[in-house]
Amino acid sequence: MSITPQHSSGRHARPPVVSLSVRAGAVTHTGLVREHNEDSYLAADPVYLVADGMGGHREGAQASRTALAAFRSLLGTGAVDQDQLEQAVALAARQVDALGNGTSAPGSTLTGLVLSRQDDVPCVRVVNIGDSRTYCLRDRSLRQVTHDHSEVQEQVDAGLLTRDEARHSAVRNVITRALGAGVGPHVRADHSLVPVLAGDRFLICSDGLSTLVEDADIARVLHAQPDPQAAATTLVERALQAGGSDNVTVLVLDVLTAEPSWAGARSLERTIPTTVSVDHDDTTIPRPSLAAPPASTSGSDDE
Ligand code: MG
Repeated sequence: MSITPQHSSGRHARPPVVSLSVRAGAVTHTGLVREHNEDSYLAADPVYLVADGMGGHREGAQASRTALAAFRSLLGTGAVDQDQLEQAVALAARQVDALGNGTSAPGSTLTGLVLSRQDDVPCVRVVNIGDSRTYCLRDRSLRQVTHDHSEVQEQVDAGLLTRDEARHSAVRNVITRALGAGVGPHVRADHSLVPVLAGDRFLICSDGLSTLVEDADIARVLHAQPDPQAAATTLVERALQAGGSDNVTVLVLDVLTAEPSWAGARSLERTIPTTVSVDHDDTTIPRPSLAAPPASTSGSDDE
């Protein structure tokens, strides 16, 4: 993506040229237990998102697709600002909520990023609702950028569980925030601003990867596979080798160029938490257990 330069007020100053280009690879797979894929992803400039639908039968897949459809108006628009992102999240919340009826309330997680700029440096704006995850690999260190909205995460935060214990918990599927799922049309999203450097690699995935494959193994694959599509394929294979008990979706995004470089961008601590809405508190949203009837239609990329 080339980001339109922002003009400087200086009479003789040349406007900074801000550029950010990326390359992505993505794979979604039904897994080895479920009959249908309720995950979806969207990977097209400047929007890179994964959604994990829930609700059973066709409804979960419809929910994840509906969530991502709310971002289609941003495709091809260049840098996405915070207002545009929040408006798209709010639209996703309304439209997934509207799928519900008297007998069902399909829902979806949502995580990932949009390409953006802040103060004339390239950055990404990360969004999260639920327990799908966005990671950043920088300087050979893999860090989870998002914070899961799940019961087990709350127990980890309270010091009652380790991350590894959380991965094996019987209640690991219970999330505390979602689009739809009977929560209503207003959903609070986590946002963070991450300045990017050439060489950064982002991983966006559903819990079908992060529950089955340890972060250290994920990092090893991301280090070993320079091609993003090959890395995504290998990570999905790892999840299948680990049992493939859930739908699994992996999106790997490499930052090829990011100019000008942000001198302070060596830290991921520069995050700007904001909220879309605070109309309700977190609630408990049980997801279908692995033994529940599988949902229908396969996750999609860009139909
Ligand atoms: Mg899942």
